[in-house]
Amino acid sequence: MKRITPQLVASGKLDYVSVSLGGGNVIAPMGTPHGAYVYLAEGIKEVVKVPVFCIGRIVDPIMAEEILIRKRADMVGMTRANMADPELAQKTKEGRLGEIRPCIGLMTCWSRTAHPEGITCGLNPSVGHEEKFRMTPAGKKKRILVIGGGAAGMEAARVAAERGHSVTLYERQAYLGGQLVIAAKTINRVEMNKPIHYYQSQLKRLGVQVHLGTAVTRETIGRESPDEIIVASGGLPKGMSIPGAGSGQVVQGRDVLLGMAKTGNRVVVVAADGGMEGLSTAEFLADQGKTVEVLIPQYKAGQDLEKITGFHLFYRLNQKKVILTTRARIEAVKGKTVIIAKGSDKGQIENVDTIVLSLGSISNDALLRDLGSLKNKAHAVGQCRQVGGLFESISDGLKIGLEI
Ligand SMILES: Cc1cc2nc3c(=O)[nH]c(=O)nc-3n(C[C@H](O)[C@H](O)[C@H](O)COP(=O)(O)OP(=O)(O)OC[C@H]3O[C@@H](n4cnc5c(N)ncnc54)[C@H](O)[C@@H]3O)c2cc1C
Repeated sequence: MKRITPQLVASGKLDYVSVSLGGGNVIAPMGTPHGAYVYLAEGIKEVVKVPVFCIGRIVDPIMAEEILIRKRADMVGMTRANMADPELAQKTKEGRLGEIRPCIGLMTCWSRTAHPEGITCGLNPSVGHEEKFRMTPAGKKKRILVIGGGAAGMEAARVAAERGHSVTLYERQAYLGGQLVIAAKTINRVEMNKPIHYYQSQLKRLGVQVHLGTAVTRETIGRESPDEIIVASGGLPKGMSIPGAGSGQVVQGRDVLLGMAKTGNRVVVVAADGGMEGLSTAEFLADQGKTVEVLIPQYKAGQDLEKITGFHLFYRLNQKKVILTTRARIEAVKGKTVIIAKGSDKGQIENVDTIVLSLGSISNDALLRDLGSLKNKAHAVGQCRQVGGLFESISDGLKIGLEI
């Protein structure tokens, strides 16, 4: 292109050149280095006089500014960053960098390009639906209690407080984020931490009262006596019983990611969630030098994964020698031998130290069901209402925050 582009520019018909690249990398998912393609624009800039633009996971205004200052490109394309936060430029201008809703390369936008409801953003579901999700001041100011500081609860609290409600949020753990904290433990998904920082800054700005390390009970609700309750208690990891498995031989993947459970060197991961959870747990273990085999009950590994994300993930898992077996389930364990069924065939895996369960979530709705007469004030959001991904939880939080 360094030979071709000057000839195109010489035609006099180009005002600028935007340097992108093809293949499965053009819309780069989380885990791809930021600004990895700027060198391509830099190379083209050496050979033409018209302005040259660059692209490629540039989501941080400071990084963009550095590219310009170093004259590596004349303009920085930040499409997805502007979808995640259409006020990015304004907030940057005003020095409110901490308030920018981050683009984390979740790829909801790309996976929705052919969706009947159109494109949107995983962290900002109002994109493409601005009229439907318009923020208007609350008619009557209410006292709102949010139970759970995961994505759904934090988004509900943010939106309700932005509209003028007085919001109190309780989180059982000593930290905000819920499953985002767990999802962020693997190297290539560390950006799942970014929404937590965004919400922390927003909740502080909006004066939401956050109580950490406090599990809400009916007594807590009685004490708070809120006008409305948003139950965002999320999901719990699904379990399963495995005939013959000894104590400590089966652990939950989420506990492994959080460092609360240890595994031996030869590990079988049961990845039944269909998405990122099981496969990224397998990658996490492979990165620690473990020998990992993944059993997937579905016909296709990662059947719910967005395609480019899956392409990158499967490439890495292959490099790390992780074995993926589809249509497979565990029948029993005998000592260190795992007996499996694969379709109508039987098989076994020898010398397995630990079985790691990544089966996805079940709704954590015990408190919701126990609310009794308080139920008519309660609204369930996120995985507590229905198990889904981050986009579904944030959408739920947004909707109730606007309705309440
Ligand atoms: C390893 C892993 C990887 C993932 N990867 C992806 C991905 O790549 N893409 C994607 O879209 N999704 C992914 N997910 C799923 C995504 O993280 C969840 O869908 C989303 O974060 C759920 O948010 P939530 O608020 O509904 O629930 P949760 O995150 O479960 O939050 C619920 C919160 O409520 C708190 N709580 C519960 N009961 C009480 C109580 N009584 N009082 C106070 N607090 C309480 C909990 O402690 C928790 O913090 C992943 C999940 C995991 C575990």
